[in-house]
Amino acid sequence: MNIAGIYDESISNGLGWRFVIFVSGCPHHCPSCQNEKAQDFNYGSILDEENILNRINNNSIIKGVTFSGGEPLCEENVATVYDLLMKIKKMRPELNYWCYTGYTFEELLSRNDKITTSLLKEIDVLVDGRFILALKDEELYFKGSSNQRIIDLKKTFQENKIVELSF
Ligand code: SF4
Repeated sequence: MNIAGIYDESISNGLGWRFVIFVSGCPHHCPSCQNEKAQDFNYGSILDEENILNRINNNSIIKGVTFSGGEPLCEENVATVYDLLMKIKKMRPELNYWCYTGYTFEELLSRNDKITTSLLKEIDVLVDGRFILALKDEELYFKGSSNQRIIDLKKTFQENKIVELSF
C-alpha cells in the first residue's frame, strides 16, 4: 500500500490534535474530490511502517490518529490498514481512532468480510459516505458534504443502531 501523505499534527481531520495518515488509492472517483491525486493507488510512497510507528510513539501532543485517503477501506487497502491500526493501538492504546471512508457503514457491514468488520470494531469514529458536490457545505466540521455521517462506532455496535456525532 502506498501513502499519499502524513500530517504529524492536524486539528481538521477529527476532534483534537491528530496524526493523519492519507492512504493512496480510491475507487469512488467523486466529482470535485479534494484529494484527486490520492485516487491513484501508485501515488505517493510505499508505506514505511517503522517510520509511522516511531513518529506516533514520539508525539506527545496528539490525542488520536485518523486514517483518510484515498480510501482506507477499499478491498486493496483494508487488510494493510487493519494491520497498521492494530500495531499503532498496541503502542498507543490511550489514543482515539477515526477513519474516513467513501463507503457507507451499511455497505461496509454488508461485505460480510471478517477484516472489515474487525477493523470497524477497533475504530472509535467513522466518517462515512462519498463526497457529493451538490451537498458540499463549508460550514460543516470534519466532513465535506451533508450526506456524510460522523458515526460513534462504539455506541453504534453497543446499541445496535447508528449513533451519529454532531459538531
Ligand atoms: S471517497 Fe474521498 S478520496 Fe475517494 S474520490 Fe471521493 S472524495 Fe476523493
